[in-house]
This record gives sequence, C-alpha cells and structure tokens, in this order.
Amino acid sequence: ATPTAIMVGTGLGAGRGVLFKNATALETAAGVTTVVMDKTGTLTKGEPEVTGFETLSLPEEDLVPLVAAVERESEHPLAAAIARHADVRGVPRRPAEAFSNVPGQGAVATVDGYRVAVGNSRLMRAEGVALGEAARRLDALAADGRTAVLVAVDGRIAGLVGLADTPRPSAAAAVTALHDAGVEVVMLTGDNAGTAQRIGRELGIDTVIAEVLPGDKAAEIARLQGGGRRVAMVGDGVNDAPALAQADLGIAIGAGTDVAIETADVVLMRSDPLDVPTALLVGRATVRKMR
Ligand code: ADP
Ligand code: MG
Repeated sequence: ATPTAIMVGTGLGAGRGVLFKNATALETAAGVTTVVMDKTGTLTKGEPEVTGFETLSLPEEDLVPLVAAVERESEHPLAAAIARHADVRGVPRRPAEAFSNVPGQGAVATVDGYRVAVGNSRLMRAEGVALGEAARRLDALAADGRTAVLVAVDGRIAGLVGLADTPRPSAAAAVTALHDAGVEVVMLTGDNAGTAQRIGRELGIDTVIAEVLPGDKAAEIARLQGGGRRVAMVGDGVNDAPALAQADLGIAIGAGTDVAIETADVVLMRSDPLDVPTALLVGRATVRKMR
C-alpha cells in the first residue's frame, strides 16, 4: 500500500465526512460485495412517531395510561415515542412497579395492580397471550409500513399502538447507488417481518432479515460471510456493535451511539446513507492508485 494513495483516499473521504480509521479499512471497502444495513436509525430517521392506538378489550382512556406508565420507564426509541405522545396529550401518570425490560421484545411492569406487557408478538408468546383479532390488525399496520406495538393487560390482549419511522430522504438513492456499484443490499432488523418487508420493498432492498434478536445480529453477519460474501455492516445502535465488529467492514452512522462509533472502521459524519456507496467507491479508487 503506497502511503500517498492512502493519504489521498483518506482525504477524499474526509472531505465528504467519511472517516476511515485506518488504511486497512480503505482496502477492505474496495472489496465489499454485500452491504447489510440496520433499519431503525440507519435507513430510517430512528425517531418513530405514534400514528394511533387501536383498542381491543379496553377503552382508549383506560389503555393509554397503562401503556404510557410502562413505556415512561423504558429507554427504547419506540417507548420514548409513546411516552412523548402521552406527555403531549396530558395522559395521567401512574406509577409502574416491578418494571423489566425484555431486549428485542418489549417491557413489562405492574400498573394499578395490573400486569402490563408492551412489545412484539414474541413477547406476547412469552407471556402466554393469544393474539386473536390483534394478529390481523398487526398485519394491516405492517402492510402500511407501521411498526405495531402490542399491549396485554393481565394476560389478555388489550390493544395496539401504531408507530411510523420515516426513511431517511436518501435511503432509496443509496440502495440504487450500491446496486450501480454491483453491491448486494441486505436489511437487518429486530422489527417485525411484515413492516420490514414493506419498507425494504419501498427502498429496493434485495434481502430482508427481520425479527432478529439483538444478540443474534452478529451471527447473521457471520452466516452471510460463510456464503463467501465480503460484508460491510452499517449501524447506529448499541445493539449493532457486535455485528459491526463481526463484519469485514463496520460502518457507523455519525448520529449513532458512542459504542457503534468506537467499534466501526468507518464513521459517516453526515449520517447520510448515500455516504455508504461513497465509502466503497473511495476505497476502490484508493486501491486502483496503489497498483
Ligand atoms: P431494532 O433492530 O429495530 O432497532 P430492537 O432489537 O431494539 O429493534 O427491538 C426489536 C423489537 O422489539 C421492536 O421492533 C419492538 O417490536 C420490540 N420492543 C423492544 N423494546 C420495546 C419497548 N420498550 N416497547 C415496545 N416494543 C419494544
Ligand atoms: Mg438501529
């Protein structure tokens, strides 16, 4: 590797806010065949907004304070969106006791003596809650690209919360640019399959891997590598750090968490998905100059 080519490549990247941490990262970028992108916070803005509540067994005025009480205790972005929505509407505050966070699934607490579980269908299964009519409602929300959060009260399905997380404006253009560069694009997410498929289709993603538990993201990267691919993983969350480390090239979104930024080989300061193809092309240009 000629030092001049590496300096030029590093400088080219830096000019566009694409920070390569070392020379190896530039060379690895040149050989990437597959880009795996986290959904929430990477392809989307990561700022979900509540679009509405759907009630099944409880009236909305009873349901919402219970959901809000649980989610006010959680740090998950979906929880923050639900808590903010409740605060803006002046939903009464109820104390949540025995709160527990279930990673990749949701949260559970006791509110007003009721056991309230808020999360995805995996959590409902773990709680022994039958979805019934909620399964159809969940599919309908997912078909609209909404993330659906299920709510059970004392083991009975009580309602759903619909949330929307808007794709970053350049997400679809980034996928197109990667395709133009001959690179395969995969979405990796903990969100439900219906929602992920819908957003994946909208953005032109080749393969969607959904309902992945936080601890399993790195194993999914290893599986793709086992198929002979040279994988770049793009992520923003604490959840993504092991996958960023496992990938041949870890790329962190600048607006992401410190752990992701520390673990990655490349940092995108502008948090713009279009800087992913830029990073790969800068790598290719550098390697060409070295030969
Ligand atoms: P992602 O990979 O999309 O960032 P996570 O692994 O953090 O997702 O969460 C996966 C899924 O678990 C979410 O899409 C949601 O369905 C559910 N979930 C996790 N925590 C919560 C919570 N506090 N409230 C509601 N749902 C939750
Ligand atoms: Mg994320």
